[in-house]
Amino acid sequence: KAKSGGKNRVVFFAQSMQKEVEQKLALEHDLEEALQDGQLHIVVQSQFDSQRRRSGGELLLRWMHPSFGNIPPDKFIPLAEESGLIVRVGSWVLENACRTLAIFASRGITDTLSVNVSPRQFRQEEFVSILREMLAKHGAPPSQLILEITEGHLIDDIAHIIQRMQDLTSLGIRFSIDDFGTGYSSLAYLQKLPLYELKIDKSFIRDTLSHPTNTAIVQLILGMAKNLDLRVVAEGVETEDQFDFLVRERCEMMQGFLLGRPVPLETWCQEVLQIDL
Ligand code: C2E
Ligand code: MG
Ligand code: MG
Ligand code: MG
Repeated sequence: KAKSGGKNRVVFFAQSMQKEVEQKLALEHDLEEALQDGQLHIVVQSQFDSQRRRSGGELLLRWMHPSFGNIPPDKFIPLAEESGLIVRVGSWVLENACRTLAIFASRGITDTLSVNVSPRQFRQEEFVSILREMLAKHGAPPSQLILEITEGHLIDDIAHIIQRMQDLTSLGIRFSIDDFGTGYSSLAYLQKLPLYELKIDKSFIRDTLSHPTNTAIVQLILGMAKNLDLRVVAEGVETEDQFDFLVRERCEMMQGFLLGRPVPLETWCQEVLQIDL
């Protein structure tokens, strides 16, 4: 009896796996269409300094699926990464950032725009030349563009990655390490990278006041960043207590629901910057 129960479980498992695979394939297929049909949207979340002055925003993707509704980026970005579609999706986001930055430049607006770049997108052979041409085409100021990469980018072929980062840095673009603290990058690596900024992962901020270990981790990151002369952004700041703690610890930049939720790019430009796109 136990044996047949086990077998049933295996069959059940295989079926649910197959379902999952089918769903994944369907979503992958839909994502192709989404890009063409305008189902993808960009929202922006403002970033603030310790005086609560806005100094920029992060672009975040949204997918409004015609039958499933909102699909979170944590779900569809990995699919796009797997299928290779991330190259086109990512270019589309960068194109929007460049177009917006060009308008900023013409109005004397100094806000930065941060764009998440996925590993496969970053590794594409022509990434540097594509970005160079995109910036030139729009007349966008590269110094206001910040590319967010994760520690996962740095796992293999580090020399190649550093070279690429240096090429982009010489165009004037700046780099940020996103979700910092969740990966495995060593201090030796960090020192070799042409970096501008670290973003402390929101998991450390969430429990920072209730878990002494997290408090220590946040302090450690801030101390290290200071020594490496890097700016730090705390992500996921949700409470005044967290904000006050971060200010006390001399964290320069904050991002989170306490200070502002992500809003559509057009709204952000109109309301926050009082310009029309
Ligand atoms: P991320 O780059 O670390 O972005 C921060 C995430 O934290 C966003 O989730 C944001 O909405 C959320 N967040 C902001 N403030 C708070 C807060 O106070 N509390 C909490 N609990 N969450 C907060 P979102 O928009 O769902 O994006 C998830 C991830 O998807 C991003 O994490 C990023 O890794 C990826 N992603 C989003 N857009 C893009 C994109 O254009 N390209 C690539 N490659 N990845 C993207
Ligand atoms: Mg990010
Ligand atoms: Mg993050
Ligand atoms: Mg992330």
